[in-house]
Amino acid sequence: MEEEREMKKRQSSRFRRICVFCGSSHGKKPSYQDAAIELGKELVLKKIDLVYGGGSIGLMGLVSQAVHDGGRHVIGVIPKILMLRELTGETVGEVRPVADMHQRKAEMAKHSDAFIALPGGYGTLEELLEVITWAQLGIHNKPVGLLNVDGYYNALLSFIDKAVEEGFIRPSAREIIVSAPAAKELVKKLEEYVPRHGKEASKFSCEIEELEHGRGLDAL
Ligand code: AMP
Repeated sequence: MEEEREMKKRQSSRFRRICVFCGSSHGKKPSYQDAAIELGKELVLKKIDLVYGGGSIGLMGLVSQAVHDGGRHVIGVIPKILMLRELTGETVGEVRPVADMHQRKAEMAKHSDAFIALPGGYGTLEELLEVITWAQLGIHNKPVGLLNVDGYYNALLSFIDKAVEEGFIRPSAREIIVSAPAAKELVKKLEEYVPRHGKEASKFSCEIEELEHGRGLDAL
C-alpha cells in the first residue's frame, strides 16, 4: 500500500499540461518518430495532458495518438484555415478552433505549464523561439525544453551559444532553454527548472503591455 502510494507520488508531475511543438513531417530517421511516441508515453506516465497544434500529420500525429491512447486529455488548437482534414488530418481528443496562427500560439501557451519542442521545421522553430522570447521578456516563467533527438538541435544550440559569445543573447537568457536527448530526462529537468532571467522583464514592460492587449496574452 505504502509502496503503491510512493509509486503514485513519483509518477505525478507538477505540470498539468505540456504544449508540444513538433514537425508536421515524420523526418527521415525512425528515431524521430520513436522519440515522439516515447514523449507521448512519458506524459501519460506522469499524468500530464497534451496541448499541440492539432491534426494527425507527422510527429504531431504520433505524439498526440500516444497521449490519447494512454488515456490522457489532448487539446488540438487549430486555426480555422487549417481545419480542412486533407491539410492536417483528424485530431484525437478536443479540437479548439482559433482565428489565426497568432491566436493559436497564444492559446497553446495559455493552456500549458511548460513547452517541449521535438524535431521539426520552420513551424516548430518559430513556435519554440517565440516562447523563448516571451520567457526572456518576462511574459511567462514556464519551462521550455528541447528534445535533442540524435543531436538534431546541436547546430541550433551552437548557434545560440555563438549569439551569447557575440553579445546578442544574455547568458541568463541562454539558460531558458533546457535540453536533453530523451523524454524522461527532459521532463525531469523541466520539473527541476528554476527561472533565473526575470530581471530583464521590467526593461520590456511596454512591449509586454502591448502584447497583452494586442494578442490576448494576459492570461499566460
Ligand atoms: P513544421 O515544423 O514546419 O512542420 O511545423 C509544425 C508546427 O507548426 C507544429 O507544431 C504546428 O503547430 C504548426 N503546423 C505547421 N503546419 C501544420 C499543419 N499542416 N497542420 C497543423 N499544424 C501545423
